[in-house]
Amino acid sequence: MTTFTRDDALALDKQDKLAGFRDRFQLEEGLIYLDGNSLGPLPKATMERMQSAIAVEWGQDLITSWNKHGWMDLPRSLGNKIAPLVGAEQDQVVVGDSTSVNVFKLLAAGLKMNPGRKVILSDPGNFPTDLYMIQGLREFLGDDQVEMRLADETEVVDAVDENTAVVLLTQVNFRSGRMYDMKAVTEAVQAKGALMVWDLCHSAGAVPVDLAGCNADMAVGCSYKYLNGGPGAPAFLYVAPRHQDKVVQPLSGWHGHAHPFTFDLGYTPSNTVSRYLCGTPSVLSMRALEVALDMWSEVDMQMVREKSIKLCDMFIDLVESRCAGHGFELASPRDASQRGSQVSFGHEEGYAIVQALIADKVVGDFRAPNIMRFGFTPLYTSYVDVWDAVDRLVRIMDGKVYDQPEFKVRAAVT
Ligand SMILES: *Cc1c(COP(=O)(O)O)cnc(C)c1O
Repeated sequence: MTTFTRDDALALDKQDKLAGFRDRFQLEEGLIYLDGNSLGPLPKATMERMQSAIAVEWGQDLITSWNKHGWMDLPRSLGNKIAPLVGAEQDQVVVGDSTSVNVFKLLAAGLKMNPGRKVILSDPGNFPTDLYMIQGLREFLGDDQVEMRLADETEVVDAVDENTAVVLLTQVNFRSGRMYDMKAVTEAVQAKGALMVWDLCHSAGAVPVDLAGCNADMAVGCSYKYLNGGPGAPAFLYVAPRHQDKVVQPLSGWHGHAHPFTFDLGYTPSNTVSRYLCGTPSVLSMRALEVALDMWSEVDMQMVREKSIKLCDMFIDLVESRCAGHGFELASPRDASQRGSQVSFGHEEGYAIVQALIADKVVGDFRAPNIMRFGFTPLYTSYVDVWDAVDRLVRIMDGKVYDQPEFKVRAAVT
């Protein structure tokens, strides 16, 4: 695509049916935000909605809001808004807690659903918190009850054996963007008697997902990345209807009780997916997430995927042609069907280059040891953004701008 010009990019933008969504986000003029895979930007409607949630629901209606404004239903009602984005049935998704906490609940439940097996299998490229939660569960239940096993992405299915209780995989790898074939992996795992738990943190709002169609057992995901729910927005979890009332998950707080307001001394779990809830919902965060999900309800995920592939392919082509000889090595699959909605390049000066890009208003991020990561979010990223981002990268590389000392100082959050 070396003959591709900025005018070609502008022409693609003119035909883009998703272009209208950009104005729904609070994004500074000139800023090219390629980090929506880490923290999605603010939808303009969220600000107004949050003001009324604070002033009216909390400020004025106070405790009556639990009923009057549906606060109590938020974990379920938001779950139902996430369901179509991940191919789940209605009433099988709930929102609450963080992804890490939900991983713990589902792994513990999965171990109990599959007695006599103690291995939790994952891959070493998984997001570390997922692996930390396995280790925490092992610490808590003991080595005789839990064993963590890791196998590389291409070998993980073969590593499932008669001791494997649960397989926990993140569909889209956070570093490389490499994507598992959910249906094929789920089938293979289940054929060997293990349960399949998918982490959809880099999938929800990024690629079409079909949990029910894949016959997945359980899933988790977060809402502050591609879904634009806001910093620290609550996570979601899915449990297939066939498993829902099989076991009690260990964080058996009152919001998972069948009747929280009878204040019984004994724990009677809800016989719905609500038994996977724990405590009081984070109402304000959920209100923010709700605005984003209402916007997502207008979005066709197939259109998002088509544009995402074009943006990513274009970025790869432009970087490889215009920055040839500058030492970038593609760290994502070249084949779009095996890639989520991000592109990563390895470079030994990756950290400094990302800092120089940020100073030039192209926001990507860096993941140790040498990965420059760029998320492509079709709702607010245009084709000309991709062209301009690479143009600024070319200037930074040709002029060795990244060599300036201020770009080499590591901040706490990369
Ligand atoms: C972002 C991310 C998380 C985050 O977990 P939190 O508990 O919400 O901080 C977990 N898993 C994966 C795969 C992620 O990408």
